[in-house]
Amino acid sequence: MKTALYPGTFDPLTYGHIDIIGRASALFDRVIVTVAKNPKKTPLFTAEEREDMIREAVKSWPNVTCEIFDGLLVQFAKDRQATALIRGLRVISDFEYELQMAHVNRRLAQEVVTILMMPGEKYTYLNSSIVKEVASFGGDIQSFVPPFIAEKIKIKLIQK
Ligand code: ADP
Repeated sequence: MKTALYPGTFDPLTYGHIDIIGRASALFDRVIVTVAKNPKKTPLFTAEEREDMIREAVKSWPNVTCEIFDGLLVQFAKDRQATALIRGLRVISDFEYELQMAHVNRRLAQEVVTILMMPGEKYTYLNSSIVKEVASFGGDIQSFVPPFIAEKIKIKLIQK
């Protein structure tokens, strides 16, 4: 049973994240999308709201689940018997940070391997911040996130 974690903030989940989840779910027996609370980033959505959106978006993949975790990621990987950490690599500027994290995590836990996956090229420009920014100016975000997430972003921005 090969298990991978796909950690991130997912504030909110985009089609880029979903692309990576689909690729990982085909490679592993089990994929756990791991939501970091990340209060430092002052997320738009609570961790629970992000988790709910992910659960809804991944429900067609029976081997994908979602959990909130705040702490040392490699410890969570060990707790769940996960042997891989999946991270997305969009552009070369992602690489430096991901390489550093991969080395740190390997130093902390030799048995946990970091795998960098490239999304489909149409998602290389996409990140959660851009989606929130476009939405805040009333722009159309339909090609960035599933419709039910677009709706939740709109409601959240009105509430703010
Ligand atoms: P973090 O705060 O950990 O970077 P994110 O939610 O921004 O959390 O991203 C989680 C992971 O998903 C990261 O590895 C990031 O590189 C990857 N990712 C984000 N957007 C995309 C995308 N459009 N295509 C592929 N991977 C992506």
